[in-house]
Amino acid sequence: MTRRLTATMALVKIYTDLFVNRRAYTLQSMRPHPESGRHYYYRPKERASGSPLLVTEQTIADHLEGKITIGLYAINPQNQRCKWVAIDADYATAMDDLIKLQYQLTQDRVESALEMSRRGGHLWIFLAVPLLARKCRLYIYDLAQKLGVPVKGSGLAEGIEVFPKHDEIQEGAFGNAIRGPLGIHRGAKRRFWFYGADYTLDAQLQFLRRLRKLTEEGLDRFTVGKDLPPSIAKVRSEAEPVSKNAHGGNRRGFCILDYVSETRVVGRNYVARCPSCALAGRDRGRDNLAILVSDPRFYQCWAGCTKEMIRAAVGKPIPFRNTA
Ligand SMILES: [Zn+2]
Repeated sequence: MTRRLTATMALVKIYTDLFVNRRAYTLQSMRPHPESGRHYYYRPKERASGSPLLVTEQTIADHLEGKITIGLYAINPQNQRCKWVAIDADYATAMDDLIKLQYQLTQDRVESALEMSRRGGHLWIFLAVPLLARKCRLYIYDLAQKLGVPVKGSGLAEGIEVFPKHDEIQEGAFGNAIRGPLGIHRGAKRRFWFYGADYTLDAQLQFLRRLRKLTEEGLDRFTVGKDLPPSIAKVRSEAEPVSKNAHGGNRRGFCILDYVSETRVVGRNYVARCPSCALAGRDRGRDNLAILVSDPRFYQCWAGCTKEMIRAAVGKPIPFRNTA
């Protein structure tokens, strides 16, 4: 079992300053899924009203003390900015690649912290002020390309994943959440620490707090005149909703609302059973899929099904587009 730790208000404040960029969050289920054995994350709701719960000081304290495990979103949709960048790697040579990236970052005088994980690790960079997700991604992808570090999705099954995973997210959308550091991983039933400090909450958070933070001026300098590598730009455009469709060709095309039933409106979204989850016998609560009411071209499954998976699940796979 894990040691019981105490999260003081001072530690909660440091944690919040470092990691919490918006108050929406996800919660890891305490019990494994009966079929997959995995501990999925879901967006917690207030029992009476059904409205989503928001992170409070108590939420962070409970996470640090191991009573709950939360996931944190990278991007705040109000400004498309992040407080941190996390590079997730969990393949055979993951640690080698993270250490290469960490070394390359130090050449730019950017400090980072390496968090252990079940397989591989997460490399975290903290930002002096919230910075544009697009530029953060540009910087990391550029470093990865220079170092020959593989990037997942760019035609490769294995490679690093960068959080934020999007350049921008729509209002009412969430993007991707990552397990909040220093919480208990329910699957592994243990806490994963950062290298570089003693294994106490106090030492770890003081260590993170003292790291040099990447400034806006620094990030601008590292990214000026650069574009995402073509392989990544391609992945990104395929993952994006068809928003900048000048031809209008898809206007009368696919509409997710034609393929889901029992939708209900929660806030800005329709909520429904995710077709891809349903195919796997999941989402019996019928609330994994969020569809933006004002523009149903934007939809997202909290359990992580991609647009491609959802389209395939309803028998309307995304057609291959012949554009670079
Ligand atoms: Zn799904």
